[in-house]
Amino acid sequence: MMIVQKEFRVSTRSRTEMVDITGQVEAAVREAGVRNGDVVVFCPHTTAAITINENADPSVVHDVLLALDEILPRSNPGFRHDEGNSDAHGKSSLVGCSEQVLIKDGGLVLGTWQAIYFCEFDGPRSRRVSVQVRGE
Ligand code: ZN
Repeated sequence: MMIVQKEFRVSTRSRTEMVDITGQVEAAVREAGVRNGDVVVFCPHTTAAITINENADPSVVHDVLLALDEILPRSNPGFRHDEGNSDAHGKSSLVGCSEQVLIKDGGLVLGTWQAIYFCEFDGPRSRRVSVQVRGE
């Protein structure tokens, strides 16, 4: 079995944003030369996350971010963390910092409407994404 580690950067443009990184993950799988296995996509940041959701209708991403804002508004009189980004930390934990996707015949096993997203909750920033491709 092969294990290949890769990393790429994502530049975000707004405070909250979901960036489709499916292409970068596919490229990492291609470069690793793994035909069958899986890939773990990991976000090494505490105010960002990785998720899988719909890429066909852009309003879905908008609505997901809106719903997260509703659950975790930017300000809350109870927040103690003095950086003022407690909402972003909460969203990061809620969404999670990694996703695992299967690889079959050199391609990602994703549903027709699924894409892998880097979720920015405290941007704009330059972020890193770690990818581990495993298989043969
Ligand atoms: Zn913070």
